[in-house]
Amino acid sequence: MSRVTVFTLGGTISARGGDAARMTGREVLTALGAPEDVVLRDFRRVPSSTLTHADLADLAAEVRATVAAGSGVVVVQGTDTLEETAFLLDLLCTTERPIAVTGAMRRPDLPGADGPANLAAALAVATDPACRNLGVLVVLADEIHAARHARKTHTTSVATFASPGAGPLGTVVEGEPRILLRPATPATHRPLALDPEIRVALVTLSLGDRGELLEAVDHRFQGLVVAAFGAGHVPAPLVEPLAGIAARVPVVLASRTGGGTTLSHTYRGPGSEHDLLSRGLVPAGPLDPAKARILLHALLSDGAAGPTGYDRPRITAAFARLNGTRTAA
Ligand code: ASP
Repeated sequence: MSRVTVFTLGGTISARGGDAARMTGREVLTALGAPEDVVLRDFRRVPSSTLTHADLADLAAEVRATVAAGSGVVVVQGTDTLEETAFLLDLLCTTERPIAVTGAMRRPDLPGADGPANLAAALAVATDPACRNLGVLVVLADEIHAARHARKTHTTSVATFASPGAGPLGTVVEGEPRILLRPATPATHRPLALDPEIRVALVTLSLGDRGELLEAVDHRFQGLVVAAFGAGHVPAPLVEPLAGIAARVPVVLASRTGGGTTLSHTYRGPGSEHDLLSRGLVPAGPLDPAKARILLHALLSDGAAGPTGYDRPRITAAFARLNGTRTAA
């Protein structure tokens, strides 16, 4: 088998002229000047906002099989949801072999299109032994980010991906990956699963929130992530409704700020992080709300939920191990 298989999913890198019709995987690889010997898997041709959990479950299964057969993997998709795909693959495809996820911010027909440079860098990462055992990597603008930290932070900049609170693991210089940092722990010790039928809601709170959206999601989802204020704060009247939901399904407390970790005991009044955690919410730690939703979904798919409730200690431990704390399982 070739040393690297490229999965193309669509996205800006395939959006010549901005048309709804996307280039084929072969056209994308040709336009990007990919080497002849890469294996192409023309997987989907969609804007990344259209990808579904079923698509990603299929992708993870194929990526796992490809890696097991001895090939490196590059996934090329739109940047809008790239960080979610990358983190999901990180949880579902634990492998020492590098898996690189990349895309482009500029269409292939625009001046300064970044697709060719990003694909070249991703191929370099996917085939470099120095990039083993780092989990799934997001590679754009010559930077190498751990999937768990990477975020799209700008609507148009080619340097849109950043790892708030952590920084990139390395860079690609003169075509060669240079790894400067390694994650302290894998995202998970064993591969998790993704059941596309499981539904996890994400509710972002805003000033003056009276909890109507919480009412709307209650009883309709198997899990909930709350993107709360600051380090994990909600309006006091929302504590009872949240505690009520947490008695039935897992509720993860994340921050809507975009950087930093949730706290546990700095504030203790009604609606504080201490109050919410004592009522059964699970702290997301440094995971942003979208990634917290991915982890919760994978845990629920992997047996952390059952007819009699959910395995709160296991869910709490899974989040804690990404928090860099000494007590994490
Ligand atoms: N940035 C978009 C994406 O993530 C662009 C598109 O519609 O292709 O796919």
